[in-house]
Amino acid sequence: MNKQYGHTSIDRAAPAAIEAFQLQRIQALLQYLNSHAPFYQRLFAAHGIDITEVNSIEAFRKLPLTSKEDIQAHNWDFLCVPRSAIAEYTATSGTLGQPVTIALTAADLDRLAYNEYCSLQLMELSSEDSLQLMLTLDKQFMAGMAYYKGAQQLGTAVIRTGPGLPQMQLEVMQRLQPSVLVAVPSFLVKLKEYIASTQTELHTLSPRKVLAIGEAVRDKDLNPSILAQRIQEGWNLELFGTYAATEMQTAFTECTAHQGGHLQPELLYVELLDENGDPVTPGTAGEVTITTLGVEGMPLLRYQTGDLCEGYYETCACGRTTMRLGPVVGRKKQMIKYKGTSLYPPMVAEVLHRMAFISEYVIEITQDEYAQDMLVLHLHSTDPDAVDHNSLKQQLQSALRVLPQIEWCSLEQIMQMQFPNGSRKPLRFRDRRA
Ligand SMILES: [Zn+2]
Repeated sequence: MNKQYGHTSIDRAAPAAIEAFQLQRIQALLQYLNSHAPFYQRLFAAHGIDITEVNSIEAFRKLPLTSKEDIQAHNWDFLCVPRSAIAEYTATSGTLGQPVTIALTAADLDRLAYNEYCSLQLMELSSEDSLQLMLTLDKQFMAGMAYYKGAQQLGTAVIRTGPGLPQMQLEVMQRLQPSVLVAVPSFLVKLKEYIASTQTELHTLSPRKVLAIGEAVRDKDLNPSILAQRIQEGWNLELFGTYAATEMQTAFTECTAHQGGHLQPELLYVELLDENGDPVTPGTAGEVTITTLGVEGMPLLRYQTGDLCEGYYETCACGRTTMRLGPVVGRKKQMIKYKGTSLYPPMVAEVLHRMAFISEYVIEITQDEYAQDMLVLHLHSTDPDAVDHNSLKQQLQSALRVLPQIEWCSLEQIMQMQFPNGSRKPLRFRDRRA
């Protein structure tokens, strides 16, 4: 059991009690930043901020925001400890622009373990379970390591198979009988196709639950996404969605009610903001803006993730009172203005996932000679005879109201686009706008 965090019942407290608890943690953070973080010392001085006057959430919400560009430009000014106190350097995946380094101390690694220990508890796992971890623990990737440590803390056995290699994944699954998979959903679709090709019956396999990372398993109404439906058709797996970003060092994970990922109030304060930095009204998606609680190495204050999500505030069916986040409906910088319509890549991906004949894809935005956004879909099918061009056009037209340009590619061409410069995960979205 983790000494620093212990077990509080804060996730079942009244919302006002949660807010008071978080305000105390925020005030402690402000003191810490003011004495340890060069970036925030300068920011507070430049804005004439007296942190002792931040005595309410309203006052907190007037503090300046931090952007990814701030970290890119001043990465080491966010560090609050001497370099000798760093236990691990992780990095963001660099999906959008240059990666940022997040340095963690030993205490931060404990906090990270506790965070995933709580995630696994939300899934109602125990030491009776065993978990096949289909994620890399290498390449400075935080999530693989976080799940590993969280499972160790809960006493759940881990089988580190890493990503890819369907044949090996199935062989290990049959030999060691894990009850849980931690995987990227689109890989599970591929794994399922491989399993079908071996004539193995899905119901003979041991896994019952999946922690699905990186891609949404719910649509904006919290129903199973097309990707989730493709995995669950004929395969009795309970999918748990999760949302996280390296910078927040914390995950929002679904409980068994599957009504959005729960906030962990000991670890994070979250706001959903509109374009002017004001809170959105419930029922509207806003930019996930986080303040880390209890981070020692590189804590962040009102950090704008760029991800747009909706929040849910009523008490969950599981009894927890913490707010929940729906799936990422878009990224602020990935908004596409196409022929007068605003689109986000997840809307396009949702249509592509519906088409079983599309094996791989890259969604690309470029600009035409008039600096207007152009949407191009690079598609690959392993079975060109099965491609239904009319149905594809109709579905795109009805979901997006506009028809993007479609380019059919070889698998090799798609792979070159998906893995530029040794990227550790496939990039299915390319923004080539100026
Ligand atoms: Zn719940």
